[in-house]
Amino acid sequence: MFTALKQDGIVARALDKGLFDLEITNPRDFTTDNYRRIDDKTFGGGAGMVMKIEPLELALTDLKKRLEQKNSVKPLVIYMSPQGKKVTQAVINNLATQDGVVIVCGRYEGVDERFIERNVDLELSIGDFVVSGGEIPAMLVIDGVVRQIPGSMNSIESVEHDSFMDGLLDCPHYTVPRDYHGFKVPDVLLSGNHELIRQWRLQQGLWRTYLRRPDLLENKQLTKEQSRLLNLMISRNKIEGK
Ligand code: SAM
Repeated sequence: MFTALKQDGIVARALDKGLFDLEITNPRDFTTDNYRRIDDKTFGGGAGMVMKIEPLELALTDLKKRLEQKNSVKPLVIYMSPQGKKVTQAVINNLATQDGVVIVCGRYEGVDERFIERNVDLELSIGDFVVSGGEIPAMLVIDGVVRQIPGSMNSIESVEHDSFMDGLLDCPHYTVPRDYHGFKVPDVLLSGNHELIRQWRLQQGLWRTYLRRPDLLENKQLTKEQSRLLNLMISRNKIEGK
């Protein structure tokens, strides 16, 4: 599954440039029985299988040993789980400061609870819904973190202005043509006036956040300029009866 991540896009380019390392370990390679069983029935009965602790711990120990030999890194161990802390930009930014991270991906009903108790530093969830395995959630986290590594993106500016980086949503973006069947690009973006464009973008980001994600504004201390631009937008829309 991780081939997609390794072969294409920003993560693949960052790997090529040697900006980070990505190693995939299959716990099945650490099973000791002839059937290479990674899962078994859940104690107490009921449907669904559970990932066994032994192969997972053997795989983790091996991975940790190799990481320590290579970079003297003691990694943070994360388990992707719908029961974990929700992944936000703040979580991603924090992970980007870590020297090494191991992400454990569950399958079936999940992993034996004792594996979590004994080995996991942090459980992370991609949202209040359940998917079939931890691989796609892990890939989302990896992509988010790699975007924060200097050099991974062509322009650091585009990362800085992304939604959530400053606790706000991003402004709308446009490209050619200037007029698409009567739907026009806002004049200010064609004005060449960088200060006006900066203010317009900031105001649009604030307004979108106010309309779509007011929860983000609840704990955010706006600057004087941000408050002024947002209040202007609110009163303008009141006047227009929107
Ligand atoms: N029985 C588990 C529960 O309800 O908490 C769900 C197991 S799920 C089918 C299998 C695996 O997918 C989990 O072990 C986890 O690694 C991954 N997974 C599913 N939903 C996820 C989410 N929202 N965030 C992160 N990982 C998730």
